Amino acid sequence: MIRNYARVLAEIEQELDFEQRLGQPADYIPELRKVNPDHFGLHLCCLNGDAFCLGEDKTHFSIQSISKVFSLSMAMRICGDDVWKRVGVEPSGNAFNSLIQLEREDGIPRNPLINAGALVIADMLVTHFSDPRQALLDFVRQLTQDDSITFDEDVAVSEQSVGYRNFATAHMLKSFGNMENEIMEVLDFYFHQCALSMNCAQLSKAFLVFANEGKIPDSHTQVLSPLQCKRINALMMTCGFYDEAGEFSFLVGLPGKSGVGGGIVAIHPGEYSVAVWSPRLNEKGNSVLGMKSLELLTTKTAYSIF
Ligand code: GLN
Repeated sequence: MIRNYARVLAEIEQELDFEQRLGQPADYIPELRKVNPDHFGLHLCCLNGDAFCLGEDKTHFSIQSISKVFSLSMAMRICGDDVWKRVGVEPSGNAFNSLIQLEREDGIPRNPLINAGALVIADMLVTHFSDPRQALLDFVRQLTQDDSITFDEDVAVSEQSVGYRNFATAHMLKSFGNMENEIMEVLDFYFHQCALSMNCAQLSKAFLVFANEGKIPDSHTQVLSPLQCKRINALMMTCGFYDEAGEFSFLVGLPGKSGVGGGIVAIHPGEYSVAVWSPRLNEKGNSVLGMKSLELLTTKTAYSIF
């Protein structure tokens, strides 16, 4: 096992092929098309306080589906085990926005990290909070100790203007009785959570809580029980990359979550949290260089959860 992260990151930077420009950025959300596809940033925070970075680790991007881990954490705090009456815990083996299983399985989404599941979680937060957007910001700001984190309104509006599949999914959920609130209210919250704008340094700091049995390292605040934290990590491991969760587990061997903005966050329990951003995605919607750099990280350190 090698824990010289400075050296390992330097080697990763050498070995990544930036010129190949493999993959395409997500273009189904108009605002994401404006992002230069060749950005790259990485930030690794250790629980002992050490931090290491590569490239543009302070440049903000749209975290998209990575936000599903924050909203799930909030729902588990509020609803406890009742969450699992409305959403499952199995990998879907389907695209993140697929509707096929949802109809076949009577409106119970396979897991909270695909869009259908995240919409049910969003519905729980809309029911519980009078201002769910503010509650989400408060939670993420608490995790990062950074009050500057906010939504990119342009991205939220942009996704709303073309979010046909999410509208369809929300209507399907409503038809099965698995959505309590007005569809537009839930979608508005969901599009905003996906439009959270963060950089790799902030994201890796926010996810340290999942490497630390649910306790924020800086403030020593226990925001999730160790059991809840274990479950969230298990879901990230099995469902964090949609129908590429097996591949990520196979290549990287850490729990993590991706977003179509090109971000990926992964954690090593008891050790570190790492966030990487590169907008070019493979056909499953996961960042090509993001996956490659994390594969190199766990291979070069010979240190994953397996
Ligand atoms: N907002 C995006 C959507 O719902 C999130 C998808 C993702 O990051 N995989 O389509």
